[in-house]
Amino acid sequence: MEPAEIVIPARRGKAAHVRRGQTVRVINTHGEQVVDTWAFAAGDLGEFMSMEHSRAGMRRLTPKIGDTLLTNRRAPILTLIEDTSGGVHDTLMAACDRWRYEGLGCTEYHDNCQDNLFGGCKELGIVPPETPSPLNLFMNIPWTIEGSLSFDPPVSTPGSFVVVRAERDLVIAFSACPQDILPINGRGRQPTEAHFVIA
Ligand SMILES: [Zn+2]
Repeated sequence: MEPAEIVIPARRGKAAHVRRGQTVRVINTHGEQVVDTWAFAAGDLGEFMSMEHSRAGMRRLTPKIGDTLLTNRRAPILTLIEDTSGGVHDTLMAACDRWRYEGLGCTEYHDNCQDNLFGGCKELGIVPPETPSPLNLFMNIPWTIEGSLSFDPPVSTPGSFVVVRAERDLVIAFSACPQDILPINGRGRQPTEAHFVIA
């Protein structure tokens, strides 16, 4: 039997337990959805996937196939083993949060990836100790030689995916980013659902 596809609902978070050696396929179902991704060590949520430690280990801004992402204690946690999305992801930007949307002019509550991390984990009875910088799958933050950054629409296509392998028992958490003010989830600014499969 095929392992089940789990929905990351539009504008929401979802988390799951993953065993060492299992793979997680993260599917950009509708093609232009950024999926913020976190991984926490099972049994010690104070150890988690860290973008600054991963960049030092990879010597790259974004992971390529074969690259291993590291924890804040520099231990392997996820390895990227497949990527059909065009390979454009982001490790630089913090998860969106209420203050981000306040800064963008929102006067009422706006769904945000930080709350989605906590919401997804809450379904598992887990409270993350903080909001680590996420691996922003499918997020297109191009950089110039001068070091300038911009928020651009994804280049991924519907049904494209990445596959990561768990290097230890962990909790993985996702947020289907609800950003609808900038075009980071496509020029239509319509956040959508995404899916993942643990195998
Ligand atoms: Zn977001």
